[in-house]
Amino acid sequence: MENCIFCQIVAGTIPAAKVYEDEQVVAFLDITQVTPGHTLIIPKQHVRNLLDMPDTTASTLFANVPKIARALTKATGAQGINLVNNNEEAAGQTVFHAHLHLLPRLGHQDGLTIDFTTNEPNFPALAELAQTISQEVSQ
Ligand code: 5GP
Ligand code: ZN
Repeated sequence: MENCIFCQIVAGTIPAAKVYEDEQVVAFLDITQVTPGHTLIIPKQHVRNLLDMPDTTASTLFANVPKIARALTKATGAQGINLVNNNEEAAGQTVFHAHLHLLPRLGHQDGLTIDFTTNEPNFPALAELAQTISQEVSQ
């Protein structure tokens, strides 16, 4: 797609530090390097994000994650990896060509904080919400 920076990386019209490429996907270092080795993996096909991604594209994209995650841990000496994916502006998406962030973790002082707030469980509310969502999943 014209004006899409990641399509331009796929086409090779702008440079990227690629770590993996095949017919369907490409993985390259994120220019901001939130942690050392911060890598993006994208489908070559232009898709906005997970919310409009065909299942077959998702299968191919996610199937490539484990080997790249393993390579990143070996190459950087990371003790762990976070997989982060932002869908739409409300979730922090800034480039509207689907991508997964692989973030090697190099200890608690590596500059990345991902905080999950813990709430007291409300079991009836959970059951009601699960029912609503499961109806949507089956549509
Ligand atoms: P988002 O916020 O959409 O999940 O993440 C977009 C990511 O793309 C950001 O982490 C940003 O640093 C990265 N990025 C934006 N433009 C370029 C570029 O031209 N080259 C590379 N390698 N990464 C980019
Ligand atoms: Zn694109």
